[in-house]
Amino acid sequence: MTRFDAPGASAEEVDAAPPACDGPRIQFFEAREVPLGGVRAMSVHRYLPQRPLPLVGAWCFLDRFGPQTTRMRVEPHPHIGLQTVTWPFLGTVHHRDSIGSDVVIRRGGLNIMTSGHGISHSEYSVGDDPIPLDALQLWVALPESRRHGAPDFERHENLPVVDLAGGGSACVVVGEFAGATSPATMYTPIVGAEIALPAGTTTTLPLRADWEYALVAVDGAVEIADPDGSHGLTGDTLLFLGMSRTEVTVTAADGATLFLLGGEPFEDDIVMWWNFVGRTHEEIVTAREEWEAASERFGTVPGHGDVRIPAPPLPGVRLTRRRRGEGPPRRD
Ligand code: MN
Repeated sequence: MTRFDAPGASAEEVDAAPPACDGPRIQFFEAREVPLGGVRAMSVHRYLPQRPLPLVGAWCFLDRFGPQTTRMRVEPHPHIGLQTVTWPFLGTVHHRDSIGSDVVIRRGGLNIMTSGHGISHSEYSVGDDPIPLDALQLWVALPESRRHGAPDFERHENLPVVDLAGGGSACVVVGEFAGATSPATMYTPIVGAEIALPAGTTTTLPLRADWEYALVAVDGAVEIADPDGSHGLTGDTLLFLGMSRTEVTVTAADGATLFLLGGEPFEDDIVMWWNFVGRTHEEIVTAREEWEAASERFGTVPGHGDVRIPAPPLPGVRLTRRRRGEGPPRRD
């Protein structure tokens, strides 16, 4: 997706103590509404990054676009250093990229684009008219061992679904959860899972104590049991659970769908700006210059002629690595 803002830089301050990643936490972060795609903007809800929470495992970005009826026209734009994970709920989106992928994304299909060193892509809703759309798009930061490599794209339509002990089920979208493993290629220990909870369910989600986790309510509301009490979770909020938990108990009185994200704490602090994930200010500056110069690094998305999204201007300060619990970007 196209970002005209520096992720997190325009975030409203979150009225919560900075979470450290050394134990269990109950921390709520409100999603913020962000325009996407410039003048023909649709709006999305951005759950990650948050100023005090740049990453959950390797997950560094989470948008939900929808449910809304819109005509999506996200023209070609670049990425570095990340994987996009697109998990649709409703509607059909045409994905094209610079390595020749040309696919329609719809419910039941997981689409993963690995940028490596550089890729570009476009996303259009199918047809000329506005259509109902709803999906999650997440980014996964690539580790040092993969982020300089070749771009790739893959899709999966047969994902494992596991029954949960207390009722409900989990579709393992990426990584590992409850003894099942997604076929999607990931480069760090991670999980993304859609949890379906019928009305009246109280179930326990098995967690790994050495991973950190967060939950988003895609549909409905749940109560999360914690030693210090019960906490409600509804749609516009991400709940950071921290780490050192072996399970979390969730009740869905009226039925709910959740998305669980988690993983091993990421190996490094990242610099994230526009559509780029890197480690230094200089890397981001170079990627921006190469996109603006139509460098072969990002290839060409077929079917768009010369239409592409220009990079926004860099901020007047050096981009710095995001650390958990930090306030606004430092000047250094
Ligand atoms: Mn994109």
